Amino acid sequence: MLTHNLGYPRIGVERQLKKIVESYWKGEIEKKKLVQSTKQLRVEHWARQKEAGIDLVPSNDFSLYDQVLDTAMLVGAIPDRFQDLLGGEDDKGQGYPIDTYFAMARGIQDDAHDLSAMEMTKWFNTNYHYIVPEFTADQEFKPISTKIFDEYEEAKSKGIITKPVLIGPVSFLLLGKEKNNADNFHRLDLLEKLLPVYQNILSRLQQIGAEWVQIEEPFLSLDLDNKIKNAFEVAYRKLAENRTPLKLLLTTYFEGLGDNLDLTCGLPVEGLHIDLVEAPNQLDSVLKNIGDSTNLSLGLIDGRNIWKTDLEQAVGVIMRTKKVIGSDRLLIGPSSSLLHCPIDLEKETDEKTLPVEVKRWMAFADQKLEELALLKKIVAKDLTDQERSKVREHQTDLANKQNSTLVHNPDVQQRMENLDEDILHRNSPYKQRRRKQQKHLNLPEQFPTTTIGSFPQTKEVRQWRADYRKGHLSQKEYEKKIKGATKDLIHKQDKLGLDLLVHGEFERNDMVEYFGEHFSGFAFTQNGWVQSYGTRGVKPPIIYGDVNRPEAITVKWSTYAQSKTDKPVKGMLTGPVTILQWSFPRDDQPRSDTAKQIALAIRDEVSDLEEAGISAIQIDEPAFREGLPLRRIDWDHYLTWAVDAFRLASTVVDDRTQIHTHMCYSEFNDIIEHIARLDADVISMETSRSQMELLDAFVDFDYPNAIGPGVYDIHSPRVPSTEEMVALLEKAVNVLPPEQMWVNPDCGLKTRGWEETLPSLKNMVRAAIKMREKLSKV
Ligand code: GLN
Ligand code: ZN
Repeated sequence: MLTHNLGYPRIGVERQLKKIVESYWKGEIEKKKLVQSTKQLRVEHWARQKEAGIDLVPSNDFSLYDQVLDTAMLVGAIPDRFQDLLGGEDDKGQGYPIDTYFAMARGIQDDAHDLSAMEMTKWFNTNYHYIVPEFTADQEFKPISTKIFDEYEEAKSKGIITKPVLIGPVSFLLLGKEKNNADNFHRLDLLEKLLPVYQNILSRLQQIGAEWVQIEEPFLSLDLDNKIKNAFEVAYRKLAENRTPLKLLLTTYFEGLGDNLDLTCGLPVEGLHIDLVEAPNQLDSVLKNIGDSTNLSLGLIDGRNIWKTDLEQAVGVIMRTKKVIGSDRLLIGPSSSLLHCPIDLEKETDEKTLPVEVKRWMAFADQKLEELALLKKIVAKDLTDQERSKVREHQTDLANKQNSTLVHNPDVQQRMENLDEDILHRNSPYKQRRRKQQKHLNLPEQFPTTTIGSFPQTKEVRQWRADYRKGHLSQKEYEKKIKGATKDLIHKQDKLGLDLLVHGEFERNDMVEYFGEHFSGFAFTQNGWVQSYGTRGVKPPIIYGDVNRPEAITVKWSTYAQSKTDKPVKGMLTGPVTILQWSFPRDDQPRSDTAKQIALAIRDEVSDLEEAGISAIQIDEPAFREGLPLRRIDWDHYLTWAVDAFRLASTVVDDRTQIHTHMCYSEFNDIIEHIARLDADVISMETSRSQMELLDAFVDFDYPNAIGPGVYDIHSPRVPSTEEMVALLEKAVNVLPPEQMWVNPDCGLKTRGWEETLPSLKNMVRAAIKMREKLSKV
């Protein structure tokens, strides 16, 4: 039995990759230095994995930006607009044209060029974002990048024989998008052209001595139509030709094989990796169906969460498998690449944000690799005394977690048990509520204006927060400054003539972290960075126990803002699904239970805000759609508990208190009935980039409550004109009754500067007034 890893986090334990790449972008270091330093990082990562006791270490899992972009470079899928950049002297000698590569990822704007970046989207149901390959009907492929070979040789020269990682041909095509698609071609039609390039790559890997290639086809865990199923058969039959002795480890993750089991087990490959963390139940059916000589890799260690593995249970799974297929064909590894985990738990030393006891229940990438090595030794009965006591301690930690008072809060559990259905409903239907709210909030009958919550977070504001954190500012001084900014903003909004004001969120650095810090059951890391895209990282909070809100969080800021104006001020909260989705969740209870607990905590805040005189409350759920399971069959279950969580958070209020929600860019067509079931009085979302197309779902569904389709894109500093926004609103009014509409930007303004924010909002308010005038004339 071998231990192997599917992928190691590439950012570096000190976030070296970010520093190196960004200094290259800024022109602070030469390309040679970029190449050297990133090579050093790879070598360090290989060594760490070897030292941890991993038999088969991956290569080509490293990337300067993104592994899908690497694959596009590997097979020469370079969109036309970047072709001119290729071949510059400067780009040569690196294995691939690095400047073109970065231009594809980030776009390029200089004297000679103005090329837009390739699109980016979420990697399955993770928070990692990949670059979406672009394909045209006349697409040609030719190998360009030698990165995969170079990295294999690099490791070999250090005495480490690696397993190159390669995204499989079918998944690569499916990850991309058709462009200029007048002829309506399907990207899978390009498979025939792509396969020779893959054959070429594999034969070269074979030539340089690779034994295993980890060929990833994550789409095998998704719902597939016949065209796709057929593509898999065609592709792997082709890749089996003249391919000895090189072995393919067909790699799946994030879900079970489900109804693709027969298809997958029938493909001519030498090994199969399955995710037994997300889909533990698939083991038996895989064991029944797997070929007599096929190797099986068990994904036993959670590649996406930060909890210790129950070694005893994992050993049980290994033994069960061994009984059926023996140990010669057996591999054990993490469920997926460790890309989605922070690197080293030992770096966490702040007991205030991460209690010692909680830390004992956790494992980051390095610790997970140690777990794998231990598992192998337990199975081989090869433990030293020291290792034996380590295992014992490990299991004791997990047992302690089960009984810890840090995890279990009887009050929260009592409250969960006593919940009944009634609590999920507002007192009256929307139409009646609307009348009362209109009066109570004194809003214009048509096109009321508002914003999504945050306002420019200037350097100054961020400095106050940092100083406060470090203790350079006392709480009193800090609050005085934040209040000053809030008061100033209220005046600005009054002057602009906005109808429903906000306090500006100056006290928050992050919409999830801020609430997590005030809830019990949450911990934070100093160094727990996970790559989000390119050089960007996030540090998700850790939910380890029952969630509770010991005291009011936002009430003082909202009431302060309200005291400075006669207009209504909107309270601003983050929704339960988004808080759950952007944190590392508990693994000892269903996500739905954790969402419910968070919802109750938010409900308490909603109730306190209302009591303190706040008459409109927004509960943001930008991650609502992200939480959708990969398989359709699981959608209803998720949507039911996710909507219920929102309702649990929001339904506590009186009819005349207005509940808003906000969702950013989201496809609504296939979930619109559930959006309606949220029963928010007002929903705002991003629509300007799609020219209001996203509204269609609401119109077709006859969505009953109010809608605030974003009228300007907050991602760019551009100031939109009144006319543009009037044009968008007219488009919307053609399909929606004006009484149903709000006027607001696409999203929060925290990344914008004041220079563009004020004129943009001025134009927006004017656009709303113009619309009111126009309609009163008719
Ligand atoms: N209220 C938040 C803000 O304005 C919403 C952010 C979001 O949708 N991601 O920043
Ligand atoms: Zn948003």
